[in-house]
Amino acid sequence: MNEVSPSAETEKVNLLGMSRSKMEAWLVSIGEKPFRAQQILKWIHHTGVDDFNDMSNLGKALRAKLSEIAEIRPPLVERQLDSVDGTRKWAVQVGGGNLVETVFIPDGDRGTLCVSSQVGCSLDCSFCSTGKQGFMRDLTAAEIIGQVWLALKSFDAFQSGKGRVVTNVVMMGMGEPLLNFDNVVDATSLMMDDFGYGLSKRRVTLSTSGVVPMLDKLGDVSEVSLAVSLHAPNDALRNELVPINKRYPIAELLAACKRYLDKQADRHRVVTVEYTLIAGVNDRLEHAHELAEVLRVLPCKINLIPFNPFPLSDYQRPSKTAISKFWQILNDAGYVTTVRTTRGDDIDAACGQLAGLVQDRTRRSERYRRQAEEQTQTIRLV
Ligand code: SAH
Ligand code: SF4
Repeated sequence: MNEVSPSAETEKVNLLGMSRSKMEAWLVSIGEKPFRAQQILKWIHHTGVDDFNDMSNLGKALRAKLSEIAEIRPPLVERQLDSVDGTRKWAVQVGGGNLVETVFIPDGDRGTLCVSSQVGCSLDCSFCSTGKQGFMRDLTAAEIIGQVWLALKSFDAFQSGKGRVVTNVVMMGMGEPLLNFDNVVDATSLMMDDFGYGLSKRRVTLSTSGVVPMLDKLGDVSEVSLAVSLHAPNDALRNELVPINKRYPIAELLAACKRYLDKQADRHRVVTVEYTLIAGVNDRLEHAHELAEVLRVLPCKINLIPFNPFPLSDYQRPSKTAISKFWQILNDAGYVTTVRTTRGDDIDAACGQLAGLVQDRTRRSERYRRQAEEQTQTIRLV
C-alpha cells in the first residue's frame, strides 16, 4: 500500500508511517519546504502529538493546510492486558475486523517491544500459531510504527521524563517482515531515525524465516539487526518445520546472511540465529553438534527458544535438562548462546501465542480447526 495515497476511510494522507525521505518528498509535492519534515516528525514521534494544531513551531496557515489534507492516525487498541511479570500486550485494530498483537517485555533497564508486520502469515511453519491462521494482509507502515507510538502512549512515555521505556524493537510479532518489504523498511527507518524513535541499529531487529532475495534487497537499504529463524541443522528437517526452506535451503540462507553482514559498514556485527526447541523433533544432541558445524560459515550468536505450546499443536516443549544439554554443546563449540525465557504466560503473550485473539477467517485456519475436530472425534471413538 502506498502511504502517500489517502486512506480509504478519511481521504486524508496519514503521516504517521511516512519515513523522513517520503515526508520530505510529500511536503515538496504540496509546495512546502522539505525541512518541515523534521519538525513534523519530532512532533509525531518525540512528543506523541496527533493534532496539527499542537505543532506550535508551524505557522497557522500551514497547520490549517495540513489539517485539511493530512492526518496522524494511529491504529486503535481493542484490548490491553497486563501480566504479573510486567509484560503488557495490546490487541490492535487494523480495520475490517482484523486484529494484530504487540507485546512489551520489560527486563531490567531494557524494554523490548515485539511488533507485528502482517495480519496472519502465508508461510505456515509447523510450530507457529500465526502460520495456522493463513494470511490476511500486509500492515501499512503507519500500522507498524503505530504499534510503537501506541506503546509509548500507553506508558505515558512521550516527554514524561521517565527515560526510555522502549529501548529495543523486534519485528517478531505476527507475519513475515520481508514479505511486507517496503512498509517494514519505512517503519524500521523511523525507529532508527533521530527524528523518529532514535534507536540504534543494534536495538532494532528484524526476524525472518529466510526469504533470500528480500534479504539481499534489505542489505542494500537498511542497517537493521538481523535474526534468522533456522530451527533445524539440516534441510530434511527444516523442510518439515519451515516450508520456505524448500525454496531457499539452509546453505543459500546462510550465504545470504553473510552477504547481509558484508554490506554493513560495521564489521563487528553478527546475525542472531533463532532455534525453537521442540521435544523429540529438533532437540537431540546430534542436532546441536550438527548445528554447531553448519553455523561455522556465519558470524552469529544463537538464541534457543523453548517451544510455546498452543491449541491445535501437538508439539511439546523439551525438559529443562534437554534444553541445558543442547545449550552446553553450542556453548562448548564457542557460540554465544542464550535461552529465551518465557514471559507473559498468564496473558498468552509468549512468542507463538500471538494469534490468540485474532479472528480466524482464512481457509487454512478452517482446515486446521477441522483436523483438530476430527482428531478429537477419533480419540472419542477409540
Ligand atoms: N516471521 C518471522 C518473525 C515472526 S516469528 C520469523 O519467522 O522469523 C518470531 C519467532 O518466533 C521466530 O523465530 C519463530 O520461529 C518463533 N516462533 C513461532 N512460533 C513459536 C512457538 N510456538 N514457540 C516458540 N517459538 C515460536
Ligand atoms: Fe510466519 Fe514466522 Fe510464523 Fe513462520 S514462524 S509462519 S514465517 S510468522
